[in-house]
Amino acid sequence: MGAALLVPEAPPVFPLDPRASHVKTQRMSTAHLTIHLDAIIANWRALNAMTDSETAAVVKADAYGLGADRVGRALANIGVRTFFVAAAEEGAALRLALGPGPAINIFSGHMAGDADMIGDLQLTPMINSLDQMIRHVEALPKHPFGLQLDTGMNRLGMEPAEWAAVREIALAQAPTLIMSHLACADEPDHAMNAQQLAAFHDMSDGLDVPRSLANTGGILLGQPYHFDLSRPGIGLYGGLPFVDAQPVVTLDIPVIQTRKLEPGETVGYGNTFTATRETRIATIAAGYADGIIRAMGPKTQLFSGGQKCPVAGRISMDMIGVDITDLDHTPKSLELLGRHQSVDTLADNADTIGYEILTSLGTRYKRRYQNG
Ligand SMILES: *Cc1c(COP(=O)(O)O)cnc(C)c1O
Repeated sequence: MGAALLVPEAPPVFPLDPRASHVKTQRMSTAHLTIHLDAIIANWRALNAMTDSETAAVVKADAYGLGADRVGRALANIGVRTFFVAAAEEGAALRLALGPGPAINIFSGHMAGDADMIGDLQLTPMINSLDQMIRHVEALPKHPFGLQLDTGMNRLGMEPAEWAAVREIALAQAPTLIMSHLACADEPDHAMNAQQLAAFHDMSDGLDVPRSLANTGGILLGQPYHFDLSRPGIGLYGGLPFVDAQPVVTLDIPVIQTRKLEPGETVGYGNTFTATRETRIATIAAGYADGIIRAMGPKTQLFSGGQKCPVAGRISMDMIGVDITDLDHTPKSLELLGRHQSVDTLADNADTIGYEILTSLGTRYKRRYQNG
């Protein structure tokens, strides 16, 4: 009797008890990017089947953000023998993942200070100037190298005059490859393709060295572009212009909180979303700081099962409001990328390309790899 009187009265449960509120808060967790290695393998096999020559794999920029070590090992395991990266440091990391064996080619060539790395880790620079050629033969005589020619893109490689100066020294050292890169391969009707093909023939016909011109788009341009080795990147990772690619990434974003809005209430910065009916909003735990480009907001949907849920209001730094009114359940997470929506749809929504979406997303999440 007396004791009960000493216990203070319990505070009212509302609004602290979530069951009593129109706001429901879930345990915070982070978004997961699932990378389907089996889909990357299937995409490599499909591209490989389109040519009669060797198919390499481009794994620069950490395999377009998806993890060069895991992607590289998965592809090496099915017999891919040649890899390309942008810089020697990327090549060094890849060599540690792959071990000896596969060729690792460096697009930026032989840069000053890289000789030890190139020599010790058996990397193959794609030499792109007379300076690089001299640096290479002085520092690492007899070490393999390839040659990069500029056929009109004006980005990397030797133009005809420089090539004429390098040709004799280079060919005497048995280069492993002569390569060039297409500027407009994703536009099959672009006149630049035939122009670069002709320039590549002019600069490399009759030399007894394997040749490479095609990226993903170049493979799709057909046999004249294939030469001895093709170099797909984006197609492996499920992006255009390889329309038949299998999707490679799934991105699930946890729901932090859900709430009900009355007609006339607004969501997010700038009040850009106004409820026109009784609306349920889910706040999900990712935003533009996680590579979900703010510009994609107005056109982008998330998915619960197959059901579409549009973004409501502006994408914030690490949160997004989503209109889940039409769902008959409260989702634990919503899917931004996967079977229902591709990197290229998001790219269109943000007025960019799939390459940028992948490389913005890839490194920011806990990555999960799936083989089957
Ligand atoms: C990135 C790159 C590739 C791969 O291009 P995709 O369009 O991703 O297939 C091939 N070659 C060079 C020189 C590159 O820089």
